[in-house]
This record gives sequence, C-alpha cells and structure tokens, in this order.
Amino acid sequence: MKNLILATLLLTSSAFAHEEHDWRQDYSAYLSVRYELPMSYEKTASPRFFTKRVDMKFFKEKLTTLSSTSDRRTTENLDVARQFLKAEYEKLGFTVRFEPFGGGSNFVAEKLGTTQPQKVLILSSHIDSVRCKGANDNGTGTIGLLAVAQELSKQNYSYTVRILGFDKEEIGLVGSDAYVASLKTKTDVIGNINFEMMGVNSRQDGSFHVIDCDKASSVVISSKIRNSIANLGLPLTIVKACTDRSDHASFWRHNLPAVVISENFFGGDADPCYHAKCDIVDDRLDYNYMGNILEAVLDASEQFLR
Ligand SMILES: [Zn+2]
Repeated sequence: MKNLILATLLLTSSAFAHEEHDWRQDYSAYLSVRYELPMSYEKTASPRFFTKRVDMKFFKEKLTTLSSTSDRRTTENLDVARQFLKAEYEKLGFTVRFEPFGGGSNFVAEKLGTTQPQKVLILSSHIDSVRCKGANDNGTGTIGLLAVAQELSKQNYSYTVRILGFDKEEIGLVGSDAYVASLKTKTDVIGNINFEMMGVNSRQDGSFHVIDCDKASSVVISSKIRNSIANLGLPLTIVKACTDRSDHASFWRHNLPAVVISENFFGGDADPCYHAKCDIVDDRLDYNYMGNILEAVLDASEQFLR
C-alpha cells in the first residue's frame, strides 16, 4: 500500500512538475523520478567512411515549417501540426490516421510489412510543446522521425513500421498512456524507439542518450543501436542515464521493450532553451550531430524490420 501511495505521489509530482521545474538544476527532483547519476560514458569506434542516407536538408526545411506556429499546446495549433505531418507521411506512401482519446489525439502513420505485417516496430515522438515553438523539444524528434521514415519508405520490410506522434506528453505522458492501453495484441509490438530532443551538442563531443534503464528486453534495442554506431563508425558516444519521463515509459508500464534517445540532457549538455521561448530553429541546433544519431537509429530499425 505504501508503495502504491509513493508510486502515485511520484507519478503525480512528475506529471505536474514537468512543466514547472527546471529539471537540470534540481538534483533531488532527478532522484525522485529515478534518474541515476553519475552516468558512465562509452567510447565508440573510430570514424569510418560510409554514405549517409538521412536527408538533413529535408530535415531542416520541415523542422522550420513545423516550428513556425507559436506553440503546440492548443488543439488548434496541434491540429495544424498533425495535418502537416499527415500530408508529409502520405507523400511517403504511409497510411495515416488520428486516434482520439479523452482530450487529445495521437497521430499514427503506418507502412505495412510484406511477410509478417502483424509484427510492429513503433517509432515515436511527442508533438506537443510547452509555451514555446518547441523546435528542439520536440520538433527535432518529430522531424527526425519523419526523415528516418523517408528512408524507410524506399524499401520493403518483413515487419510493419508504425510512426506515433503522441499528444499531451508534456502534461504527463497522457497520449502515449492512452495509446498503449488501447493496443489489443501487445505481444505483436517488437518494441518502441522514442525520439526526444536531440539538437544540442554544444560540447561537440557527440554524446547522447539511449535510455533503457537496464530493462532486459529494452537492452535488446539499445544494443542494436550501439552496434549500428560501431558498424557505421559514427562519431557518437552513448552516455548512460535512466529516466521514465518521456513516452517510452508508457510502453514499460505494459512490459514492452522501449528506449528513448535524446541529446546529452542528463550529462550536462542540455538545451539552454529547454521549455523556454528561445526554443526556436537557430544555430544552437547541430544538424551534423542529429544526422549521425538518425543514421544509427535508421540502421538499427532496419535490422528489426527485415
Ligand atoms: Zn520532450
């Protein structure tokens, strides 16, 4: 019972505090939601030549369009974003639908697998923002996903790839919680890779997170991404951290494998414009760095889908 009360308190505080706190400055708050510090760093292979596939010119153009409205909090502005994404995914040949839930609507785009379409890899991002244009949080995740999907649209895979644009992440993972609860046959979900803000690399060290919190089934996904980094020789370094404060945690609550990828938020290189008015498209966003992260995730996703 105590545990239940404690869990409820933590959930409630994390849901509300998400908007009110600057989490980077609040060490005890980190701990209260199970961040694990300090983090360990892991060096990757030396850079190697390969042809990059993710189109970062396309990425920048679409990120600028998505981030042109004042914020993505009101239903009206979220509808603009969802319609924009619908048009983009339909151009890529994906089937698009909206899945309404109490007070919001999740965006879903899907490309069916050829031999085992019932098996699904879910790539996700939240599309809402907090009192700002949300170019990095979570424009970079949302458009990063679109840029990866553009590549995935060019080939056929055995399994289905499903894109989720979650609503109401910023007020407590509400959209993803409703979505995962609504899944009828959860065992068909291979896993979830959740894209969070990934634009800031101010130390230029290529550090980023692939967060699995050492959950055995989720480590399968992070290992794949780690292997892709090594095989492609990408100049990236994984910094270990643990958090349940993004939509991947909704999958964990139903024992489904999931990871969240993001910039080195907990390792001291978080966006200074996190949840602030200055979260716009500008020079602090590192397209080369984001491109490298997306190459790794694309490569790993294809290995699951084949
Ligand atoms: Zn976010």
